[in-house]
Amino acid sequence: MKPIFALLCLCGLAAVVVAQPQAQKLKVFISVDMEGVSGVVTGDQTGAGGADYNRFRRLMTEEANAAIRGAFGAGATEVVVNDSHGSMRNLLIEELDNRAQLISSNIKPMGMMQGLDPSFDAVIFIGYHAKAGSAVGVLAHTGSGTVADLRINGRSVGEAGMNMYVAGVFGAPVVMISGDQEAIAQARELAPNIEGAQVKEAIATTAARSLHPEVARERIRDATVRALKRLPEFKPVKPATPATFEVKFSQTALADVAEQIPTVKRVDAQTVSYQAGDYLQGYRLLRVLYRYLRAD
Ligand SMILES: [Zn+2]
Repeated sequence: MKPIFALLCLCGLAAVVVAQPQAQKLKVFISVDMEGVSGVVTGDQTGAGGADYNRFRRLMTEEANAAIRGAFGAGATEVVVNDSHGSMRNLLIEELDNRAQLISSNIKPMGMMQGLDPSFDAVIFIGYHAKAGSAVGVLAHTGSGTVADLRINGRSVGEAGMNMYVAGVFGAPVVMISGDQEAIAQARELAPNIEGAQVKEAIATTAARSLHPEVARERIRDATVRALKRLPEFKPVKPATPATFEVKFSQTALADVAEQIPTVKRVDAQTVSYQAGDYLQGYRLLRVLYRYLRAD
């Protein structure tokens, strides 16, 4: 009798499961940098913000949390956060919203976009900043302090641009960016309808008028919700391939080293270029050039 009873129970359960409407999957990838966080106005571009670094880590973590809250509020079923600043060991995992998972530290071949794959539906950039050479973007740079300009397929882009193309390859649109006005304006050159959460107004590259962190977090959460609610309006920004990467270094000596890599050609004193049939492969080499190249 027992086996029959169990069988009946199982059948009943199966019927209930089939009758349930299918839950909609919404996977969100969040790349978190530091220079675009409200209140962050100083610090070198590769990691520490000097005496303020520990405060900045907390501010960065809380802005990530605001985006996580917004994502789950808009129906996300999974959120992965990638620490994308300097050492990539900045976010305080014990203070992170416990619904998210964290990718951190190095060496990550895909750097700021490590962990993204075709199963993700949307990408969000938090704490992003303007590109190298910007007149007023807070702590403006591209990749590291060694890059004077980066051009992909002839277009000058910053980290938002180079990373947006990675998302495009995986078929995911970047729906929201937070940072200063320049970071948002530069992202809109590639994705005009991207939602922007401006948390500070850059006055110079080392000065800004910031929102209070609590207000900045509300703005980020609200912008995340708005962006994900209109997800069907977004299209991934795909790079043309083969893609041409052109890196203008701040020092001639770095171009001397870079041109020793097969496929990398010298363009002028400070500039090298290379082509990649696979954008992701080109992106990985780019990361080597801006992060790991030394001239001494
Ligand atoms: Zn950055």
